[in-house]
Formats: sequence, C-alpha cells, structure tokens
Amino acid sequence: SKFTWVEKDTCIACGACGATAPDIYDYDDEGLAEVIYLSDGNKGNTEIPEDLYDDLQDAADGCPTDSIKIADVAFNN
Ligand code: SF4
Repeated sequence: SKFTWVEKDTCIACGACGATAPDIYDYDDEGLAEVIYLSDGNKGNTEIPEDLYDDLQDAADGCPTDSIKIADVAFNN
C-alpha cells in the first residue's frame, strides 16, 4: 500500500505535482500543494489506489524540493 503527504514547509508552490497527479494533489490558498485524495486533508492517512501509483511516483520524482513524501504505511500527520 502507498500513502502520501506534502511537506508544506519546503513546498515552493511550483505547480508541478497537481498537473502531474491531479487526482492526488491540489493547492491551498497560498498555492502550496496538499493531498486532496478522498478528503485526506494532507494527513497522509488515505491509501492511494494502485492505478494512481504511476502518477504518485511521477509527482514525487518531479518535485524540485522533495516535498512529496511517500511511504508504505500511514503517516498519521
Ligand atoms: Fe510543491 Fe513540490 Fe508540488 Fe511543486 S511539485 S507544488 S514544490 S510539492
């Protein structure tokens, strides 16, 4: 299983992740990315389905500040 959240302290609001994985990431009022999948609220507790794994990895690989965190267990932020 896969879980993800965005470290907003290091996100520079570049807009890449939401373009790459729009089902997983969107932006707050300041343009900082956050996980919106199934109303996760950027807590990293919502399991990402396998059909989104490619988007998930592409978004993480494309983040210029390594702000996208991915793990096999829930983050419980
Ligand atoms: Fe922020 Fe990284 Fe997403 Fe750019 S790709 S908006 S830096 S989390």
